[in-house]
Amino acid sequence: MVTEYDAIIVGAGPAGATAAMYLGRAGKNVLLVDMAKFPRDKVCGDAQGRRAASIMRELGIYEGYTQLPGKGIYGMTLSSPKGFVVHLDVEDRNNPPQGYIHRRVDFDNYLFENAVRMCPNFKIFKVTDLIIENNFVKGIIGVNEQGQTEEIRSKVVLAADGANSVVAAKFGLNKNPLAHFIVAIRAYYKNVEGMSDRIEIHLVERVIPGYFWIFPMPNKEANVGIGMVVEDMNKKKLNLQEAMLREIKENPLFKDRFKDAFIETPPGIRGWSLPVGSHHRKCYGNGFMLLGDAASLIDPLSGEGIGNALISGKISAQITMEALEKNDFSEKFLKKYDTELWKIVEPEMKLNYKLQKIAKRFPGLIDKLLEKANKDDKFKKKLEKHVPYTSNRDELLKKDFLSELGLAATFLGI
Ligand SMILES: Cc1cc2nc3c(=O)[nH]c(=O)nc-3n(C[C@H](O)[C@H](O)[C@H](O)COP(=O)(O)OP(=O)(O)OC[C@H]3O[C@@H](n4cnc5c(N)ncnc54)[C@H](O)[C@@H]3O)c2cc1C
Repeated sequence: MVTEYDAIIVGAGPAGATAAMYLGRAGKNVLLVDMAKFPRDKVCGDAQGRRAASIMRELGIYEGYTQLPGKGIYGMTLSSPKGFVVHLDVEDRNNPPQGYIHRRVDFDNYLFENAVRMCPNFKIFKVTDLIIENNFVKGIIGVNEQGQTEEIRSKVVLAADGANSVVAAKFGLNKNPLAHFIVAIRAYYKNVEGMSDRIEIHLVERVIPGYFWIFPMPNKEANVGIGMVVEDMNKKKLNLQEAMLREIKENPLFKDRFKDAFIETPPGIRGWSLPVGSHHRKCYGNGFMLLGDAASLIDPLSGEGIGNALISGKISAQITMEALEKNDFSEKFLKKYDTELWKIVEPEMKLNYKLQKIAKRFPGLIDKLLEKANKDDKFKKKLEKHVPYTSNRDELLKKDFLSELGLAATFLGI
């Protein structure tokens, strides 16, 4: 008899591993596949924040997560095109940090190990195509570890196969307009001076509207990178690698700090794309759902995608369980996944897209904001509520000055 799983999850990164944990602990018959052997690296800034933390708490794996090698985050250093620098401290350092920098090779492997503990059917398998019958996805086709082509059947497929999702591509759902794709590069530097427990985001003149980050790691190491919306990068004809190396060598804010620094090789400088949620990608169809980057859920302002990947893992697992109960895997039923997911992610996505556009259109405003923050402590405290990876999202969306900025942008037609 042909085996038919309740669900197949394609991709064991943060989104897929989370879905596997929720479905596995509910006793569902699930197969998790990934083309990579874990531990594996993923190009990333390595910052994880409150959203990811709340899901890990719910799954009972948060304490172990905090023990991974890495660095707790208590704030952000932000600099503006004209070189104003402000240090924003969001947490009392006597409390545990709300955000962490853990290398993805460690973080993803931790999630993967927990996923396999709760959902033991794992297979190294590269998905190349889907089984489609009567307009419904009925399973996956691909190549197993032995190099043989195999077909595996399931009632539903959860596609958590990342930014280059084979499943999203199969249905033509991967085509974000270029204004809704970011490209970013990352390198691990060793021997960097002046590292603190704050993430650093530098909106430097030659890179704006892109962003340059330095995320602290233990032992004078740092995760360093540059990201930019593809449309802007094409307009500016910027080579990200050259831009990053130039800033490190020449910018007065960094050059002394990187005087004796060098890039860890491998992995060297690596790039990857970020499909962002300023474009609401349809993330369901007959017999399938898209999760994480495959569903284009990255924040357009901060580049934060891990938290939403975990949320999509949780919601897709809930909807899978409902679909199994009702024996209904139709597009009509699975639309509920899109609705429930976007109820959670949309308000912040919309606000941050507006802020991204304001920052692009009025870079002088960033100079003014930071200049003011350095003179006006009350204003600085307001900014501190919005530090990515550590800020409380409920607070963020309350009516305050950033929301008002978003509102002003609406009036300006931005
Ligand atoms: C340079 C850069 C910096 C970033 N910085 C941050 C940051 O600091 N914080 C943050 O929150 N987010 C950051 N992001 C975004 C974050 O990396 C993603 O949002 C996150 O990895 C999404 O998780 P995922 O599980 O959806 O996909 P992934 O992490 O990409 O996992 C997908 C998995 O699917 C597997 N797979 C792919 N194709 C197939 C196939 N055909 N068959 C089988 N398996 C397959 C892959 O091997 C992989 O394990 C950054 C992204 C980039 C590019």
